[in-house]
Amino acid sequence: MANSILAPTPTTDAREHWSERSLCRQIDADVFFPERDDADPTPRAEKVATAKAICALCPVRDECLQAALDNDEEFGVWGGLTKAERNRLHGSRGSRPPRILMPCGTPAAARRHARHNEPLDEACRRAAARDRQERAQRRASRAS
Ligand code: SF4
Ligand SMILES: [Zn+2]
Repeated sequence: MANSILAPTPTTDAREHWSERSLCRQIDADVFFPERDDADPTPRAEKVATAKAICALCPVRDECLQAALDNDEEFGVWGGLTKAERNRLHGSRGSRPPRILMPCGTPAAARRHARHNEPLDEACRRAAARDRQERAQRRASRAS
């Protein structure tokens, strides 16, 4: 998921990013993307309810919602809100906040390229590879 302005700089800097403390790191991401048309027969509303229940307990809920608003995330439950709910939040605030996109060289930028069918530049290719590697390491450390 994505990420302080909130932006993690693509370096070896070990400063902790909020997503490191997210509850959903431990959970199957599909629950948070109920609109995804996959083989999972779980009804959409049920996935949304599950995701929201998890977000309600998450220590970085505010950071997560802010990042989703800033990045104009199109899909998924972020900070306990669906895309439709985030849109209403924009409306109730009167105007859209400035759109801040994550810079190339971050996993979020790599995902954005993928979503838009854009070719991956070198920085993003590396960020995606690093992200995959870190996920694999986390999985491995959980399994052991
Ligand atoms: S608020 Fe929800 S989606 Fe965001 S990091 Fe926490 S658990 Fe994940
Ligand atoms: Zn890029």
